[in-house]
Amino acid sequence: MSYSVVWFKRDLRLYDHAALHHAAKAGPLLCLYVVEPSVWAQPDAANQHYQFIVESLRALHTELRQLGGRLHVVLGEVTEILARLHGLAPFSALYSHEETGNAVTFQRDRAVGLWCRQQSVGWHEFAQFGVVRRLKSRDVWQKRWEAHVATPCWPTPAALSLTFESLPWPAAPLPSSAALGLSADEPTRRQHGGRQAGLSVLHSFLYDRCDQYRGGISSPLSAPTACSRLSAYLTYGCLSLREVVQAARLQMASLPTGTSFHKKGLTAFTSRLYWHCHFIQKLESEPSLEYQNLHRGYDGLRELDWNPLHFEALVQGRTGWPLVDACVVMLRKTGWLNFRMRAMLVSVAAYPLWLHWLPVGQWLARQFLDYEPGIHWSQMQMQSGTTGINTARIYNPIKQAQDHDPHGHFVRRWLPAMRRVPNAWLFEPWRMPPDLQARYGVVVGQDIALPLVDLEVATREAKARLYALRAQPGVKDAKAAIVRKHGSRKAGPMARRSKGSDPDQMVLEF
Ligand SMILES: Cc1cc2nc3c(=O)[nH]c(=O)nc-3n(C[C@H](O)[C@H](O)[C@H](O)COP(=O)(O)OP(=O)(O)OC[C@H]3O[C@@H](n4cnc5c(N)ncnc54)[C@H](O)[C@@H]3O)c2cc1C
Repeated sequence: MSYSVVWFKRDLRLYDHAALHHAAKAGPLLCLYVVEPSVWAQPDAANQHYQFIVESLRALHTELRQLGGRLHVVLGEVTEILARLHGLAPFSALYSHEETGNAVTFQRDRAVGLWCRQQSVGWHEFAQFGVVRRLKSRDVWQKRWEAHVATPCWPTPAALSLTFESLPWPAAPLPSSAALGLSADEPTRRQHGGRQAGLSVLHSFLYDRCDQYRGGISSPLSAPTACSRLSAYLTYGCLSLREVVQAARLQMASLPTGTSFHKKGLTAFTSRLYWHCHFIQKLESEPSLEYQNLHRGYDGLRELDWNPLHFEALVQGRTGWPLVDACVVMLRKTGWLNFRMRAMLVSVAAYPLWLHWLPVGQWLARQFLDYEPGIHWSQMQMQSGTTGINTARIYNPIKQAQDHDPHGHFVRRWLPAMRRVPNAWLFEPWRMPPDLQARYGVVVGQDIALPLVDLEVATREAKARLYALRAQPGVKDAKAAIVRKHGSRKAGPMARRSKGSDPDQMVLEF
């Protein structure tokens, strides 16, 4: 019997699933998800990612069941699984979405392509984001993005024609995280996987919370409800980017007058959905930015100065700057932080602590439930100043706390020892005299950490090192080519809004 294989990756839904839609039209099919040990062995993989995927796979299987189908989840490397399946029951076509993943999934896709060509199996790949494979010029990118998101969503197939109820080899249970070599740790308060969970977050944002977006996304206090909180559902494809853009635009068009907060919120939100693809496009066009400086003139800037004590203190939430440490604790417990606090964490790591972005980025990739390689590595390099094309954005963690957590509600929530520190010493508790520390029952250096370095001095030194390198003629000259290949173009939604109207506009230069 001739049939096709639909290979699910980070696209765990049935609605607006181009690969499933086309395979279902072609005839009988087999829905496959492969748990790949080589992918889970990477330093960017974490148990929370795996658990979110498992939850989404269960939901997907239930949905497939309702259509007369089922999901086959198997453990192994993709080419080996395809070869085994093909050997036992030859199939004629493979359907999947394109993926812009890490170096391992990139190599795996190449191996799958080779295997398909050798076996004369047609591999039909479809774009799932507004990311363009083999993009020739950034000048046409915005048009391509618009065309992608404006195309009608692919409907969920009404019914599926199955090949087999079970695979032609014995079924095995889903591997445990331990079997994949993942540490059991995961945030106790993270979001849960599955399309229904994603849809309910989308609905609550569009119909209820979007008026908080403008003005609410910068502070770590308001951000958890003001932000859409859709990132993990987009990363694992429980929702399609296109359906989210279309739903937001529809809602915007249907809002009555007198709802300008909602409209402004939705406009700012949709521009982030554009950035989503804009940043992933960088990794698609330059896969090496996951492991080497985008601007090679910055090679050697920090790599040889690795300070394990600084890194360990950061990971433990013991830098001594309360807002930074509170963010690390929140991240550990929830798997999420808002943009500004992510940018601040990376800026603190890159400048006063002078840590190379690669190990910091691997640690953060494991901490972020929504880890999306294209956004993550582009942002890591941008916030660390190694793209060579954007102004250095250096966040002062004391000023950030004064601006975004002026009453200390956030730091006191996540750092219980700060509850004993009176308001006057909230931002720089290490300056509290010993007698006051004794009176309030808090010992700085024990209950809360002492700053690792003098913020002002360390930041000044870091800037001097960065600017000295930047001023070198060779480094300056290489900039234009990077802007041409990766820079945003003036006409896009990234340039439309004026600076100042959006507090997080500062990311837009890269
Ligand atoms: C160092 C660093 C690493 C990051 N790593 C990731 C990551 O691995 N995965 C990820 O999804 N986002 C990442 N971001 C971007 C951003 O912080 C998150 O997308 C956002 O906090 C997720 O919350 P939300 O869905 O409520 O966002 P919202 O503000 O509601 O935005 C809606 C969607 O737009 C996209 N988006 C928002 N901000 C950005 C941005 N600055 N760049 C690109 N896309 C954006 C996301 O898909 C997000 O879900 C990173 C930012 C920094 C500074």
